[in-house]
Amino acid sequence: MKKTVLTIAGSDPTGGAGLQMDLKVFKHFGLHGMAVPSALTVQSTEGVDYAEEVGENLLMSQLEHLLSDIRPDAVKTGMLYTPEAVGVVAKMIKQHSLENLVIDPVAVSSSGKSLTEAGTLDAVREKLLPLARVITPNIYEASLFTGESMETGADVEDAARILKDMGPEAVIITGGHLKERTVDLYYDGTEFQRLEGDEIEGEFHGTGCAFSAAVAAGLALGDAPLEAARRAKSFVEGAIKRAIRPGKGMGLLDV
Ligand code: PLP
Repeated sequence: MKKTVLTIAGSDPTGGAGLQMDLKVFKHFGLHGMAVPSALTVQSTEGVDYAEEVGENLLMSQLEHLLSDIRPDAVKTGMLYTPEAVGVVAKMIKQHSLENLVIDPVAVSSSGKSLTEAGTLDAVREKLLPLARVITPNIYEASLFTGESMETGADVEDAARILKDMGPEAVIITGGHLKERTVDLYYDGTEFQRLEGDEIEGEFHGTGCAFSAAVAAGLALGDAPLEAARRAKSFVEGAIKRAIRPGKGMGLLDV
């Protein structure tokens, strides 16, 4: 039977990030994608202008109806925006004992707009990270959780250890660079794995969303976290290389 995967994330009308992107990634991996919006954004390829949450009750009833009917093989969360939304998602994940949870702790858009209200990341740390199979912070998001900035490879390893202690089974810190290569750091409590890729010139929108969605897709298909991470990395790299520029701003991944 076809596997199913759910994204709980913000809406991005450009289709370049958020749940619109996630659904395309799920389709690419041959999965049935499902989507519950947690926030709506007003944005173009030039950046995010405004965001508003989907209220707590509406978010809860979307999840209750869906999850009492379909049990997803994996779940990904993206922009949750408010501490209340984080609370609702954590409650539903626990209530339905959902597995293969991937948390992309979205904090700020690449255009600089905050995608979280005060207290959201604290709520993610307390309530969601302990439930996660994989978390996919970029370097900046990782530093918001640890309170430490990262300059060297050793700093990123320290951050991965701290994040691992917050409860997830595996941590992938994305967005590192070494010479002309991008380096994501994978850590599951045993050894560090460096996932390297080609550095591609230009500004692209939605890379973090596509990566975490691809990791969730891999888990739904039965990959172990490291295997899912490797597959996601090479998938996103290909999509960046084929990027399109339908608007005036950032490139969009062709998934
Ligand atoms: N809009 C939504 C709904 C998102 O979830 C995200 C990122 O996760 C963004 C915008 C920002 O994407 P980027 O920082 O890649 O431009």
